Amino acid sequence: MKRLDRETVDRIAAGEVVTRPARVVVELVENALDAGADRIEVEVWGDGTERLRVADDGRGMGTDEAVLAVERHTTSKLPDGDLESVETLGFRGEALASVADVARLTLSTNDGGPRGTRVRVDGCGVTVDSVGRGRGTTVEVRDLFHNRPARAESLAAPSTEFERISDRVATYALCRPSTAFTLDHDDRRVFATPGSGAFTDAALSVYGREVARESTTLDTATTVPVGDRETDVALRGLLAYPSVTRATADHVRVAVNGRPVSLPPIWRAVERGYGSLLPGDRHPVTALSVSLPPRAVDPNVHPTKETVALRSTDDLTDAVEAAVEDALSTADLRRSAEVAMDLDSALDPVDADAGESALADAEYLGRFDGLYLLCDAGDDLLVVDQHAAHERINYERLRAAVEEEGVPSATLDPPATLSLSPADVAAVESHAADLSRLGFDCEPFGGGTVRVRAVPAPLGRVAEPEALRETLAALRDGDDAGRRDVLLADLACHPSLKAGDALDDDEAAALVDRLGACEHPFACPHGRPTVLAIDEAHLAGGFDRHPRRG
Ligand code: ADP
Ligand code: MG
Repeated sequence: MKRLDRETVDRIAAGEVVTRPARVVVELVENALDAGADRIEVEVWGDGTERLRVADDGRGMGTDEAVLAVERHTTSKLPDGDLESVETLGFRGEALASVADVARLTLSTNDGGPRGTRVRVDGCGVTVDSVGRGRGTTVEVRDLFHNRPARAESLAAPSTEFERISDRVATYALCRPSTAFTLDHDDRRVFATPGSGAFTDAALSVYGREVARESTTLDTATTVPVGDRETDVALRGLLAYPSVTRATADHVRVAVNGRPVSLPPIWRAVERGYGSLLPGDRHPVTALSVSLPPRAVDPNVHPTKETVALRSTDDLTDAVEAAVEDALSTADLRRSAEVAMDLDSALDPVDADAGESALADAEYLGRFDGLYLLCDAGDDLLVVDQHAAHERINYERLRAAVEEEGVPSATLDPPATLSLSPADVAAVESHAADLSRLGFDCEPFGGGTVRVRAVPAPLGRVAEPEALRETLAALRDGDDAGRRDVLLADLACHPSLKAGDALDDDEAAALVDRLGACEHPFACPHGRPTVLAIDEAHLAGGFDRHPRRG
């Protein structure tokens, strides 16, 4: 740890670091990453001004270092004051000091010794004592902006401030999947990534099953010219299929050398890579990690380091576009997506607004491809997805049964053993009561495993022990009912009627009737449509005839 000399300080794009709670979280998370943490836990209460805490299992600091760390312009990260080759996220040595200026800061840290160090900074100065703590660092920030009333006034609504925090932490978690991140808000788990290194695992935790399932990964090594040299570039990440889109570009996340950055040229290159696969004004869900040699990047161009300057942006954006396009086309999705797009314009999922009668007067005509039930519904030809329909019906039956009787369990003999991420093992403990209400009987068994003695078995459908994983993911977000519904949705989708299972005509007609009687007939429990409608005008158009109506 050293004090930077005046000259280096002046070259550093200084600026006000702490403008809102999310900035504090970002600085603390970056310090944890720079410390080589495998696990980073972020806890936020309210909008984050009251209290927030970031804990890591990184290398920690000794007492002298810890005391220096809270001073301005002290950093351990610029050994020769050489800004050209900086590979860490921090380098200015001002974050902790700036936070301490506007809040009460407690730093507890241990670099592996028998005792840790606690440094407290508040209006009365700096106090240092020792503290019991394993290797790593915890920074707790309370009463942010207590001495900056104007700044406190200028904050947005608490939910907005927390969303900013959540968005930033999610970006780190998605772009740095080798680090396990947890985010808790008001003592409730928002998400926890396993730190497995797989982008899909991180996406599963942050976005849930649909995005994780409907996505492909990107892993490309290429070169771009920087100055007069060809330079290696690695592009890795996750691309959600075009079936999963968002109304804004907020979910196009890019990190350069591990630092999430705001780089519109790269965002646009990612979107160009999707090309015509993206419907109209929709935006994709992606996490892209760009790695290139430090000399190709200048991280020191923005006061809060939210962006970087790239040498040879154009070549890099071309490489990004090509890599994205490639990954999507080899995912064998181009074909299916094009079909989906065509269907999009030709067929409209029937939504609830169409009224219950949409199925009441549907007359079963026959079946296509062993899966799609065709029905005549007056003005429309309906195509019912037999599998999705069955899921919806199962789901509503299960839900009704569970509302009456709770979730019954089935004992597993012998018990099953699952290996889970540390976050999941912790969740088994912290959500013990929820799990038992949902019909699970399980307990941590050491070494990252959990022993499952009983599983939910509503209506005689016995869940797989593996369902525990999904349930844990669901437990991290959502209220009680939400968790239960996610579990039921999964149970509803497992057994019995799979695509292609034979139904005779009577059974098929009965299935359509039962679907029509559902509370929400037009979407499966995971939100995919169950029924598409082709109207007569569309068919007439296809045959170059005038529609009979309209
Ligand atoms: P910078 O990150 O730019 O160096 P900071 O004010 O954020 O400046 O941190 C000052 C110094 O404190 C860092 O250089 C680092 O040595 C030490 N430090 C801060 N947070 C941690 C942490 N979580 N683990 C280990 N060391 C840390
Ligand atoms: Mg820092």
